[in-house]
Amino acid sequence: MNDLERAMNRAEETKDEALETLFRLVAQPSISTRGEGMKESVEMLRAVMEDAGIKTRVLETKGNPAIFGEVGDVPDAPTVLFYGHYDVQPPEPLELWDSDPFEPEVRDGRIFGRGVADNKGQHLCHIFAIKAWKEAVGELPVNAKLLIEGDEETGSPHLADLVSENKNLLAADFVYTSDGGIHASGSPTICFGARGLLYVEVEINGANGDAHSGNKGGVLPQPAWEMVELLASLRDSDGKANFPGFRDDVRESTPEEEAMLRDIPFDRNGFLEEHGLDEPLFEDGAEHHRRLAFEPTFNIAGLSSGYSGPGSKTIIPAKAVAKIDFRLVPEQTPEKVFEAFTAAVKERNPNAEVRELGGVPPSRTDPSSPMSRVVADTVKKGWNSEPINIPSLGGTLPDYVFTRILGVPSFIVPYANHDEKNHAPNENMKVECFYAGVRTTLSLIEGLGRRGRER
Ligand SMILES: [Zn+2]
Repeated sequence: MNDLERAMNRAEETKDEALETLFRLVAQPSISTRGEGMKESVEMLRAVMEDAGIKTRVLETKGNPAIFGEVGDVPDAPTVLFYGHYDVQPPEPLELWDSDPFEPEVRDGRIFGRGVADNKGQHLCHIFAIKAWKEAVGELPVNAKLLIEGDEETGSPHLADLVSENKNLLAADFVYTSDGGIHASGSPTICFGARGLLYVEVEINGANGDAHSGNKGGVLPQPAWEMVELLASLRDSDGKANFPGFRDDVRESTPEEEAMLRDIPFDRNGFLEEHGLDEPLFEDGAEHHRRLAFEPTFNIAGLSSGYSGPGSKTIIPAKAVAKIDFRLVPEQTPEKVFEAFTAAVKERNPNAEVRELGGVPPSRTDPSSPMSRVVADTVKKGWNSEPINIPSLGGTLPDYVFTRILGVPSFIVPYANHDEKNHAPNENMKVECFYAGVRTTLSLIEGLGRRGRER
């Protein structure tokens, strides 16, 4: 029997213990947005990590503390940094749960409870895999570090500082994040990045208050019209932002990435049904995925001015406000896009004010990086199934702190079922997914160990 088989057997023998530990962690609320149970959760998780043979320490931040863990001392072997979070979303509305969110239980092969999939059941897979390996084989053949933060559910406002301040401590060959759900087809998934985000607000003011549209009609400025004209002038009829500088840093997909896009399954009719549409805006599955991974967006998230209640009200609004979000792709940055957008707005309407409400750079890992192969083999072995490779999530994660600040490849390898209902009532993780996660991390440990010996 080889080391991996011995460790897999150990994980199998102790699977009830793993489940009990997960139940205990889920039963302890850790709601970051209201600071509920954070201290208790840190203590509990540290004890679980120490029990797995992981040395831990607490890293203070301006928000909730993060837990750092370290195990393995093999010079020349690769170092993996596992990232996760111990905080959870509030459970409300409670009446929509079929069981108490903090009294986890198994029904129909799924564990139900707040935080079970997002993210306690996922980072616990890494901890439990380490424990099983140490018990069955002995020392790890790799160096593993863990960073489990406590503010992910409020947007990771302290993660960039935390990583910048602890670059040496967190130094690794790559970062491995298990969060989110696998592909809806049930195939395991590897994701190589996330789109970034720039959120802005534009305000145009006219007179000092709303005015009668007859008595003052034709003699006062019309901010609503100015806003509509301004926004329309920033976009072409094909729906793409057209202001100078916006697309300067957008990079094309590589042939390898194009091949990945073609291989991602796409259910055209399911998509149309889900959104109540007759016709899609795109040709085929590959274009659907390309738009999500390689195209930036210019979205009007909200538009307000004047009266929009029932019936009529004849006024000239005094101001108009637009909320706009841009999803950014490599190598765009929120700073440069904000600069380009502000310049374009000011050129068209000097009275418009532009405010930045938030920004996160995009992140991307090269699928042909040497570690990509190891991760792909690992996932295949853990799930006994070929993984689906996704060049980038359409959504935004603070993954750039790893690819840009630490400067290393970063892989997102979700362990939860696609219908995990994270953030919603009846959050759940399939028991089978939890065990597949443990097996996947075990094969990662083995695969990295083999690579260490080869280099
Ligand atoms: Zn979440």
